Amino acid sequence: MITAGGHVPDMTEMMILAKEAGLTHAAALDMDALEFREDVRAMCRSDRCNNYGKSWSCPPATGSTGRAKERISGYHRGIIVQTCGDISGSFDIEGTKRVMLMHKKNFDTFVRQVRMFFPDCLPMGAGACSRCRSCTYPDRPCRHPDRMYPSMEAYGLLVSDVAARSGLGYNYGENTMSFTSCILID
Ligand code: SF4
Repeated sequence: MITAGGHVPDMTEMMILAKEAGLTHAAALDMDALEFREDVRAMCRSDRCNNYGKSWSCPPATGSTGRAKERISGYHRGIIVQTCGDISGSFDIEGTKRVMLMHKKNFDTFVRQVRMFFPDCLPMGAGACSRCRSCTYPDRPCRHPDRMYPSMEAYGLLVSDVAARSGLGYNYGENTMSFTSCILID
């Protein structure tokens, strides 16, 4: 394992890194909560988010739940993180987008930090990748495979359940919006 300056951060220090990256909530991931649910993949197929079949970060490009399970099976520790921000109400589309972009930026920063200590870590993002103006899927390979994080849902994970079982909330009250990602570290 590569270490930065010979020091490998413990969980407490990883939480500090998460907070420094701007993430508002962080907790040790309950690895038993990583259940690869076909009903979650069915929700993806119903395409309510309008991303199914349009990105390398979403099904069906991300493969089966069996493949997700196999990919995750080598890990035994992870961190779940969130960005919660204020919005003016449930119809505040611009505010929701602002919090989402903030979360993506915060999570990017955190992943960069974690990779210095755990280069083989596995990040899972919130929703579809939006790094490029237009995704190359399915005609050409992903432009940034190292910076593209499949969504937690793409792995078949029920985000609210994983958050709750890891000791975090999911909805932090009226006029707030939160986004959730996680990273398996080793
Ligand atoms: S990095 Fe670009 S090409 Fe790759 S999944 Fe994201 S949007 Fe698509």
